[in-house]
Amino acid sequence: MTIHQNLIAGEWVGSTGSENVNPSDTNDIVGLYAQATADDVSQAIAAAKAAFPAWSRSGILERHAILKKTADEILARKQELGTLLSREEGKTLAEGIGEVTRAAQIFDFFAGETLRLAGEVLPSARPGIGVEITREPLGVIGIITPWNFPIAIPAWKIAPALCYGNTVVFKPAELVPGCSWAIVDILHRAGLPKGVLNLVMGPGSVVGQTMLDSPDIAGITFTGSTGTGKRVAAASIEHNRKFQLEMGGKNPMIVLDDADLGVAVEAAANSGFFSTGQRCTASSRLIVTEGIHDKFVDALTERMKSIQVGHALRPETHIGPVVDVRQLKQDTDYIEIGVKEGAKLAFGGERLERDTPGFFLQPTLFTEATNQMRISREEIFGPVVSLIRVKDYDEALAMANDTPFGLSAGIATTSLKYATHFKRNSEAGMVMVNLPTAGVDFHVPFGGRKASSFGSREQGKYAAEFFTVVKTAYTQA
Ligand code: ADP
Repeated sequence: MTIHQNLIAGEWVGSTGSENVNPSDTNDIVGLYAQATADDVSQAIAAAKAAFPAWSRSGILERHAILKKTADEILARKQELGTLLSREEGKTLAEGIGEVTRAAQIFDFFAGETLRLAGEVLPSARPGIGVEITREPLGVIGIITPWNFPIAIPAWKIAPALCYGNTVVFKPAELVPGCSWAIVDILHRAGLPKGVLNLVMGPGSVVGQTMLDSPDIAGITFTGSTGTGKRVAAASIEHNRKFQLEMGGKNPMIVLDDADLGVAVEAAANSGFFSTGQRCTASSRLIVTEGIHDKFVDALTERMKSIQVGHALRPETHIGPVVDVRQLKQDTDYIEIGVKEGAKLAFGGERLERDTPGFFLQPTLFTEATNQMRISREEIFGPVVSLIRVKDYDEALAMANDTPFGLSAGIATTSLKYATHFKRNSEAGMVMVNLPTAGVDFHVPFGGRKASSFGSREQGKYAAEFFTVVKTAYTQA
């Protein structure tokens, strides 16, 4: 098997590789991927630093052309890359192709943003003086990504970093290096000068940590667990470096008595279980008012019976496997915890055998849960949902906000009054009305509050806030 190498200073390097295993079928090895050493990472950072002066002053047309070409190639190869994504991560092929399409849209959007860079010109408070406010690139950006969106998250960090004139050292998650390698290869062939984008695959403890410890990285954008996010924050403060964190969620979805039952059930099933519940925007707490509670539980469990769990590449599959054995153990441990805490296991909870060796788990619903149980407070990151019964909207709103997290929150209601009130009073970064809490657009800001996020928003034109630094210049003519 050929080894997919790291890209350092424009050269493909690395001679030993680690196996990328398909979670739908552990006999299927997706490929071998090089593992960077601490020394490789230092070289990548040095290359990005050396490439920065020229790239930061490169013309906007050069950046536009490379990002546009990348978008076009990703889109043209969506079937192949979607298959790779589903093989390495385990989401269904439809979800894989959807995510690849999203990555192409993101590159296309930021190709356009290169042509829309603007500043402000103001009169000074002192007559005869002009003030210009411009945005400049930051320098070397460290990008650290998780396994659950193997192409979209790298795209929404790499595209704006390059668009605004930064150079990059990119470390993808160990479990899913395939899509990351593919987009770096595409960008490299699209004409990026050497050192502008460096790929360093390997373990967080070596590759990620070397990035955190480097004084030459001007900004780190991270998506992953709360624990690692705190390390990124601490190391970044030490180096006086800008950082942006996207971490966990325990996203509530309120279902009110006046909800359209079909809409509410579909939104809950989608955001609770699709993508195997492995989305930071998944609805893992359903908060349901008394009047609709029993009907909703019946309809949701009926819907869950129709969900087919299986090999991600089979057309009949609705939910693929859990990503790996470690995550599967975390999910089943939480299922045991839920039972011990006294919640009622209304559906699922069992590991499933299929004709290929993989990490298949039933979608799982706990009813009669409380908001104080660990299954309602801690992020499980699997297809496991707690359902909590409440009296009315006021209790539901208070409970929705009673969480350490604040990424996404939803409400199913036909009442304009409650929908409007919820949009204003939810303590989440993203609010959904009659929609799943997961599933967002690529051209608008993404991010949360409280323990979910830190720093400025990702995506859309708001991305400029992180990837640039503002300069204020005064001129007396
Ligand atoms: P998860 O538990 O979902 O894998 P992590 O936070 O461990 O979440 O992983 C997210 C990303 O952070 C991965 O690319 C991982 O390799 C990286 N990472 C893990 N540990 C460190 C660390 N000490 N320093 C920097 N990056 C790390």
